[in-house]
Amino acid sequence: MAEFADKKLVCKDCNAEFVFSVREQEYHQRMGLRNEPRRCLICRQVARMRNDDKALTRGPRRSGPPGPGGPRPGFSGPRETFTVTCAGCGRPADVPFKPTGARPVYCRDCFRSRR
Ligand SMILES: [Zn+2]
Ligand SMILES: [Zn+2]
Repeated sequence: MAEFADKKLVCKDCNAEFVFSVREQEYHQRMGLRNEPRRCLICRQVARMRNDDKALTRGPRRSGPPGPGGPRPGFSGPRETFTVTCAGCGRPADVPFKPTGARPVYCRDCFRSRR
């Protein structure tokens, strides 16, 4: 078994010297890694963070297809409304349909509270 000794390596990213410690060398050997690290600890972290970013943008999209927002096809201009008197509170209310008189018409608030 080879004797380990702290090794000084030069980071390929920032050209700073860093120590490839005995402990890390042992770890590398245990993991079956043959290559010495080519980056210092800081640059390794930066690289990992960059990879995480990439994984995030590459991963499944969290937002679905563009939702409603733009004008819907076949819909032009403001919706036609009819002003009626609410059968619940007596206030004028705008409804998106023509009241027939057959059924009581409620404003939005009363309509919601009746359901
Ligand atoms: Zn570095
Ligand atoms: Zn009402």
